[in-house]
Amino acid sequence: MSLVRKFIVSLLRLKEIFVVDYEFKVKDRALHLWVRPYKSGCRCPQCERRCTILHRCSSPRMWRDLPLCGWSVFFWYHPKEVLCPTHGRIQEMIPWADPYARITYRFEYALLLYSQMMTQKAASRLLHISPSTLSDLLHQSINRLRDGHRIRGLTSIGVDEISYCKGRKYATIVYDLDRSCVVWVGKGKGRETIDLFFQKYLSPYQREHILFAACDMSEAYIGAIKEHCPDATLVLDRFHIVKAINTALDEVRKEQWREASAKERKILKGLRWLLFRHSSHRSKKDTRVLKALYKGNRRIYRAWVLKDEFEQFWDYDAPWAAQRFLKRWTTSALRSRLQPMRKLASTLREHSANIISFIDTHLTNAVAEGLNRIIKIVKNRASGFRTLEAFTDMIFLTVGDVDIPAQIPARFRAI
Ligand SMILES: [Zn+2]
Repeated sequence: MSLVRKFIVSLLRLKEIFVVDYEFKVKDRALHLWVRPYKSGCRCPQCERRCTILHRCSSPRMWRDLPLCGWSVFFWYHPKEVLCPTHGRIQEMIPWADPYARITYRFEYALLLYSQMMTQKAASRLLHISPSTLSDLLHQSINRLRDGHRIRGLTSIGVDEISYCKGRKYATIVYDLDRSCVVWVGKGKGRETIDLFFQKYLSPYQREHILFAACDMSEAYIGAIKEHCPDATLVLDRFHIVKAINTALDEVRKEQWREASAKERKILKGLRWLLFRHSSHRSKKDTRVLKALYKGNRRIYRAWVLKDEFEQFWDYDAPWAAQRFLKRWTTSALRSRLQPMRKLASTLREHSANIISFIDTHLTNAVAEGLNRIIKIVKNRASGFRTLEAFTDMIFLTVGDVDIPAQIPARFRAI
């Protein structure tokens, strides 16, 4: 072996690969290596047995390897067709890449790892490929590595919706709340979407073994969970209830703001975040403002009192006490003559059993909310996704139930 070849082999750490020839294309800053599998010769990709060579393919194939100091690296080889006693005519095993892949394992590993950490644009620059190629390769890789994976051991699920494509389209996400990961992503947020998950992706046995389910107050999700997992304890998510109360409170505020005169608006200015604030974060100044509000605008104040009272609900230990509280609260909300609050109160009353089940289980979608935050970061980093496939890829890559980069053979993971 010539000195240069030896140097290339040790520099690129080509342990199982024999370099036949090399060529530096200075103009393209590319290093082309003609290689062949070292030692292992021609083996069957399925059983790794040594096989008889039938013939070699007519045209050579090219694989892209990790770039080296600004140089793109390519492997060239004529794969051979072999005859395995068990598997018949088959293309020989390629030790550096998956069969039919156009990239080497370590390139694939870098692709997955970089895409987890940075924008696809940045990753594509580091890997010397175009962003669209990167997105295609990523899709192929993730599909291949997740292929045949089944959902397992699901006992607590969380169901939530998320928007993509500049907030115009929705997807439904199902979380495993025990292992804090995403197990499924589906298009749309309606009943048919969530039905599809239960019917197609879970066996009857798995549906029976779901003990807890958390979701928001969407009729579609509640209906589907009640139908497919009748034995599961359904808990309406705490965060969504708090959010709904805050939204109702904000509606009252907006209504008053619209009707207020210029003088009255002075009192109502800058009130929004103060009204949402949890009592534990309230400062003395906030209390003063709220006292002034009592005199200034009784309707907003009443709505705020209702919101503030509801905080107690989450501290109850006994379901019967919580139930009594909820009944009293909804009664006073219904009598409040505040339309948004009344509407909310009747919804809460309708689902009271599923709200009270929180007291026993203390199950929330908090895990899901945490994962949602990561998903939002990914979404913003990519400034939105045009297709759900691209979005799903990134969700599974960052917070999915399979550690995708770890599926690459270990010896190729040192990059
Ligand atoms: Zn074989």
